[in-house]
Amino acid sequence: MQNSDSYLKVAHLDADAFYVSVELNRRPELRGKPVVVAGSGPRAVVTTASYEARRFGIGSAMPAARARRLCPEAVFLPPDFESYREVSRLVMGVVRSHIETVEVIGLDEAYLDLAGLLSPRAEMRRLLAEIKSTAQVTCSVGIGPNKLVAKVASDAEKPAGFVVMTREQACRRFADSLPSLIPGIGPKTAARLAHLGLTTIAKVAGASEQDLVDRFGPNLGLELKRRARFEHSGEVSEVRKVVSESRERTFDTDINDPEQLRVILQRLSDELCASLSANKRAGRTIGIKIRLDDFSTITRAHSVSSPTCDAQLVASVAQRLLGEYQRRRPVRLLGVRIAGLASLDGERTCDGRLAEEEGRAQQQLALPL
Ligand SMILES: [Mg+2]
Repeated sequence: MQNSDSYLKVAHLDADAFYVSVELNRRPELRGKPVVVAGSGPRAVVTTASYEARRFGIGSAMPAARARRLCPEAVFLPPDFESYREVSRLVMGVVRSHIETVEVIGLDEAYLDLAGLLSPRAEMRRLLAEIKSTAQVTCSVGIGPNKLVAKVASDAEKPAGFVVMTREQACRRFADSLPSLIPGIGPKTAARLAHLGLTTIAKVAGASEQDLVDRFGPNLGLELKRRARFEHSGEVSEVRKVVSESRERTFDTDINDPEQLRVILQRLSDELCASLSANKRAGRTIGIKIRLDDFSTITRAHSVSSPTCDAQLVASVAQRLLGEYQRRRPVRLLGVRIAGLASLDGERTCDGRLAEEEGRAQQQLALPL
């Protein structure tokens, strides 16, 4: 029997307000109230807001202080990643029992390969029901011919969305949406597109290739057009290649003292290298990230001759990069990164570990942006 919905190749599954829904399951008395999961420091950001809280304008990555001003009566809870990981394991276990190839993107998100399923819609409905009964979590699902359509579709009708689309339907439905709706088109690219008058997805899709290439170069220019046409050829792959790992810290108060920054950089390098060596991984490119009090952010990197996870070496390169950079303002955030990761035993780096942080959208469809 032939799959009658043969264009339905990929699903994107995304739990609705995941951290909040885990919290509500153990605090049912908070249901229906604005609930925000956020850290507690003066510079903490919102990790997840309940849909009730979102009505007040609260959203992910917003400073928690601002969220408190927008909705003083909201209930603020500290994140409990241990519990979120546990529920995530339950959810992904159910997914894997239905679907052979699953690409886990984060604690609450995955791409599912639907090829070979006779009735993908019915199968996805069963899967959602089982997730609900096993983990008490609702999810939104987008289904389409590729990861890009699936991803945008899953976000279109949250919560509990179930959106099935062809590529052409996606083009029509999102024609008037902002280009930044497309994964990989961040605020900077969107601003440059707007500069060309390309303020909607349809306008980017219809733009002249030459204009895009002139402005963005051949790779990015053509990729932007393809994406605006909802074309994407990436496969759902079981293992995600993790190519870099980093540690960074936002300070409660800005730091001006070079010695203090040096100590912090050492600590971040120690943490990063401990994690890499525990996973038998090493990389050649050592980088730092500095965000100043005016939010300007700079990165500097240096490659060493062979892959390393040696904390002393990493810290000394990071210190040198920091020393070379002439900063004129206090530092708000400091980070260290190792890229070009490979497994120490010579195998390709394959790592299915789950991302804990929000702000991973840019990685979701690995693209040359
Ligand atoms: Mg989610």
